[in-house]
Amino acid sequence: MSIIEVRQLTKIFGPDPARAGRLLNEGWSKEKIYKETGMTVGVNKAEFSIRQGEIFVIMGLSGSGKSTLVRLLNRLIEPTSGQILFGGADIVRMNPEQLRQLRRKNIGMVFQKFALFPHRTVLGNVEYGLEVQGVERRKRKELAMNAIRLVGLDGWANSLPDQLSGGMQQRVGLARGLANDPDILLMDEAFSALDPLIRKDMQHELLLLQSKMKKTIVFITHDLDEALRIGDRIALMKDGSIVQIGTPEEILIQPADKYVERFVEDVDLSKVLTAAHVMFQPQTVTPERGPRVALQLMRDNGVSSLYVTDTEKKLLGIITADQAAMALREKRTIQEVMQTDVPWVPPTALLNELFEMMAETRLPVAVVDNREKLIGIILKGAVLSALAGNPVPEAGGVS
Ligand code: ADP
Ligand code: MG
Repeated sequence: MSIIEVRQLTKIFGPDPARAGRLLNEGWSKEKIYKETGMTVGVNKAEFSIRQGEIFVIMGLSGSGKSTLVRLLNRLIEPTSGQILFGGADIVRMNPEQLRQLRRKNIGMVFQKFALFPHRTVLGNVEYGLEVQGVERRKRKELAMNAIRLVGLDGWANSLPDQLSGGMQQRVGLARGLANDPDILLMDEAFSALDPLIRKDMQHELLLLQSKMKKTIVFITHDLDEALRIGDRIALMKDGSIVQIGTPEEILIQPADKYVERFVEDVDLSKVLTAAHVMFQPQTVTPERGPRVALQLMRDNGVSSLYVTDTEKKLLGIITADQAAMALREKRTIQEVMQTDVPWVPPTALLNELFEMMAETRLPVAVVDNREKLIGIILKGAVLSALAGNPVPEAGGVS
């Protein structure tokens, strides 16, 4: 379900946006329009929807229009044209009072420069937005303390900003954005000023936080690794236009054009793609069906082994064709002959963590969720194919 729908959203900086718009329609580039008219195409007919609860990353080189786009969403920048639908209302048409309500209740923002007040405590900084909105003192403190706890700064509420490290200061910024519990959090290069290691920590924190809060986050970055690590979906911008929107996998494996291709060509896929990406739904067998059925299923599917599960798909083991044939000859059951020690990984395992396991076994690797259910299997060929940049087929394959 989408929480925001953006249609044909455009921002042109300069005195005659309508003229620039016409030139755009005639196929002029952003560069040519700037050279001939002095006007800048900030965002050009952006069109996308943001889903409830996702981390939607907007990525692109410096100057590609990311900040402009995100500031259009809460109208810190006035759009030239287009629509931003939020819960049935068009943000572009809201009056000042509606807009105030929107920023107060629905959309929070975290900036790159923490912009903390040096003479205010952590608590005072986090409270600031609530204060401006006229939230009464006790309520304000309660909300701010909640947010401070959420970002892991308990115990620091009364410290001043310069007593905190850069990473901790950015947590204060994050807490400030979260204090009024907005539906949507806009984060503009929020981690870009941090040292690489602290930055990784913060990315991890954000994902943890997100798994608890389930907010909708619009996260801006110029860093591809960061985008791939935290984005559920990524919109890639160039010269004010969105050139592709997709999951990290889609962007990597099916780049929409040469530009995206060049952008992602140096990415090590084995550090990005997960087990879930290359697995497929296998044929399985329950023990009650017996070795004869197991053998028949293997023949029908052209495979030489089958995973054994109970009726709830809980993983019990694996049976090979040889073992099934033996059980049949010796009148034994599937449980008596199957192998229970099977290679398995969680769906989040990265492909580079799979290599070693795949080298050591001839069996397809089982993908098992946190309730011990078999949700897929992985064949060596599928891993190699994905690393070569091929889309993974929906199902099928032979083991
Ligand atoms: P990014 O955040 O991706 O680095 P911006 O959204 O800041 O990019 O800028 C997009 C384009 O719009 C750039 O060409 C920039 O120079 C231009 N721009 C941004 N703000 C203004 C402004 N207030 N006036 C004129 N041009 C602007
Ligand atoms: Mg920017």
